[in-house]
Amino acid sequence: MKPTHIEHIGIAVKDLQASIKFYENVFGLKCYAIEEVKDQKVKTAFFKVGQTKIELLESTEPDGPIGKFIEKKGEGIHHIAFAVDDVSKALREMESKGVQLIDKQPRKGAEDLDIAFLHPKSTGGVLIELCE
Ligand code: ZN
Repeated sequence: MKPTHIEHIGIAVKDLQASIKFYENVFGLKCYAIEEVKDQKVKTAFFKVGQTKIELLESTEPDGPIGKFIEKKGEGIHHIAFAVDDVSKALREMESKGVQLIDKQPRKGAEDLDIAFLHPKSTGGVLIELCE
């Protein structure tokens, strides 16, 4: 399993609308989708930068994963998502290599993609998402 490219970079923000304006005004990027992912308690906004996307994440609940992240570490880069051909297969391979998984099975993320997270404890402190 080799990632084909960086699918997106997830950035935790406190104020989605303000951050969208920042990326639009400062970088001239266009937000092309806003989507709520209920089971993750987040609202996401997407920008394309070449083949890679920027995913802004705002917590919809203080106790959601992004809310907790911001409380602990402040706003900033939250995760990096690698595009892979087959998330299930990649998870089995990661597990066999001793990587701790957050998701044992792929689940649906934003944009209806199959996704799964690897635990930052076993990836040098980086939250890595696999994305198909
Ligand atoms: Zn993501």
